[in-house]
Amino acid sequence: MKGLTRIIFGLISCFMAMNPGFAQQTSAIKAEPIADNVFMITGGIANAGFIIGDKEVLAIDAGMTADDAAKMLDTIKKTTEKPLTKLVLTHSDGDHINGIGGFPKGLEIYASEGARKEMAEAFEAPQLQGLKAYLPTQTFSEKMEIDLGSERIRLLHFGPAHTSGDTVLFLPEPKIAFIGDLVFLGRDPLIHRQKGGTSLGLIQSLQAILELDADRYVAGHNAILSRSDVEKALKNIQDKVSKVQSLVQDGKSLDETKKAFGIEESPAKAGGFSFPSLVEVIYLELAGKK
Ligand SMILES: [Zn+2]
Repeated sequence: MKGLTRIIFGLISCFMAMNPGFAQQTSAIKAEPIADNVFMITGGIANAGFIIGDKEVLAIDAGMTADDAAKMLDTIKKTTEKPLTKLVLTHSDGDHINGIGGFPKGLEIYASEGARKEMAEAFEAPQLQGLKAYLPTQTFSEKMEIDLGSERIRLLHFGPAHTSGDTVLFLPEPKIAFIGDLVFLGRDPLIHRQKGGTSLGLIQSLQAILELDADRYVAGHNAILSRSDVEKALKNIQDKVSKVQSLVQDGKSLDETKKAFGIEESPAKAGGFSFPSLVEVIYLELAGKK
């Protein structure tokens, strides 16, 4: 059942990602250079990327389907003759990892311990069992460095946020951070409580991201972000958390809290697949509800 929940979850992520205004539709997958050897891959359900090192290539995230992954590999091959040897996964959501079966076997696959655990659970589902061969081979709890020669890469996990195992990939030299789904510009962030994500953790992670010496941020579902975009995302969630906190302290119910924000009904009950509002997620977390 747990595996099934994960699959549904992946599909919901996909559905949400395809909603107009949430992200770009799937179109031609292409690589956009954002530094000398650093590329952002756009056109899939979720953005991905790759970094060309002295002798090898490291990819970031795997796309939603094996077909996306094949297009991504094609794009990399058109850009460089160096072999792809490493893959970093920012987190365990289906639109970032389910394409992994389209990658060659034998890669070094990096993820946080939390993301690996979530993937191992998800891959128990009958439809995803074939992906078990692609479970991360290198995991870390807080930080790890990858040496690609001239490019030094830092992997950082700042605690549960969007999921239990989000990874930020930071490149100190070009001052770029790949931040997975820790920021969604123009809408509330998603926090997957089922995966151990928390709003207080998301605040901590965004504060930690802003402490990095980065000035451009690649998120899963937006064009490249600036520092002020990340600051805006942090302020949005801080404001909502503090307002919900005072309502919880006043003994307000979930319905009363939602009304205070003008939220009429839970999107979860509005038919179709959707996630609860951020306010609901924060309320349940602060009120200590399951
Ligand atoms: Zn995600």
